[in-house]
Amino acid sequence: MNRTDPEITIVGGGVVGLSVALGLLLAGRRVHVLDGADSDARASQGNFGLVWGQGKGWNFAPYARWTSEALAAWPDFARRLADLSGIDVALDQTGGFEFFTDAGEMDEFAGMLAQQQRHLGNQFSHEMLSGDDLRAQIPGIGPDVVGASFSRHDGHVNPLRFLRALRSAVVAAGGRVEMSAPVAKIAPVTGDGFDVLMASGQKRSAQKVILCAGLGAATLAAQLGFATQIRPQRGELLITEKLGDRLPFLSSTIRQVDEGGVQIGGTKADAGLDDRETLDVMTGLARHAVTVFPALADVRVVRAWSALRVMSPDGYPVYARSAHHPGAYLITCHSGVTLAPLHATVLADWIESTSAAPDLEAFDENRFTISNAA
Ligand SMILES: Cc1cc2nc3c(=O)[nH]c(=O)nc-3n(C[C@H](O)[C@H](O)[C@H](O)COP(=O)(O)OP(=O)(O)OC[C@H]3O[C@@H](n4cnc5c(N)ncnc54)[C@H](O)[C@@H]3O)c2cc1C
Repeated sequence: MNRTDPEITIVGGGVVGLSVALGLLLAGRRVHVLDGADSDARASQGNFGLVWGQGKGWNFAPYARWTSEALAAWPDFARRLADLSGIDVALDQTGGFEFFTDAGEMDEFAGMLAQQQRHLGNQFSHEMLSGDDLRAQIPGIGPDVVGASFSRHDGHVNPLRFLRALRSAVVAAGGRVEMSAPVAKIAPVTGDGFDVLMASGQKRSAQKVILCAGLGAATLAAQLGFATQIRPQRGELLITEKLGDRLPFLSSTIRQVDEGGVQIGGTKADAGLDDRETLDVMTGLARHAVTVFPALADVRVVRAWSALRVMSPDGYPVYARSAHHPGAYLITCHSGVTLAPLHATVLADWIESTSAAPDLEAFDENRFTISNAA
């Protein structure tokens, strides 16, 4: 291998690949990010921008703890990103609500949060509010809302600006980001890293290869012997015209972006790779927003889109080293915005196996092969 070759090639330049790249660069590694084709599904360009913990890991304590650590790390991370990139990602982390119009669903969620609270102890706090308490706190909440949960740890960022900030920070930290550079194949070279074969026919070399290609990782992961099956899950979103008045709350389905528009989302559908938005879902989203906050009835929707989530079989992150090809890693998750502060710091220690490496055994992909074998 040529001494000027990057030590580490990251396949995928979405928020996960760029966050991991940033962490490795700040740890002193040479890093090259190869991003795919414009036609790729790109969750990083269509997400809701939440930095969110409520309900996360209620039935899987390692994920509850990982998410909680990420939330605690966000304020410093946003500052560091601004220093490196000159871009303010508009972090607003002053707490968020989950609204309910069905008392049974609210009770069920209260049980989930109680379980999450048991996992996290004093690292987490939440409260359940009745409809009346909620309306006393936030005038204008609709009469059909039966109540809400609230957690002060939750927040949001501007997701497109976040992606741009990450890319700029990676470049500022000395990384190379190559756009429109899809990887066709990764071939292990005995005892000497990997040959990375580009769709263009070019060949690159790398000591380590980290797959962060979102839904595009499926075929490349199989080439390296990873067992994780990655699946798409469609989410649809609406955005309204910009409002002068600030919305008096943040929720997991309704939020006002820093530029003024109100974004409405939260739907989930298994529709394969079909990322078209649908009229009935858009209608449902608009109805939900007006039920929660009737004043939104007078506001115009200006755009709708859908995007595909990157889901592992159980929905939790996968941090896996290839058992067959040392030096190859698979990193994939939903909630890549929320988890970014950890991906951009301690994940580098895990990749480099330093003494500061977090214990990520619970997120290994062997959880799928073990449960499949059982
Ligand atoms: C509707 C929706 C709402 C969401 N809301 C939130 C939220 O509020 N908060 C939150 O934390 N998360 C949210 N997410 C999840 C978050 O967006 C994802 O976790 C995150 O974007 C995943 O990033 P990624 O880099 O893994 O994947 P992607 O963003 O899909 O990026 C993968 C990249 O890999 C590249 N690639 C693919 N194949 C190849 C190849 N062969 N060679 C080279 N490059 C390749 C692609 O071009 C792409 O740029 C949401 C997702 C969706 C869809």
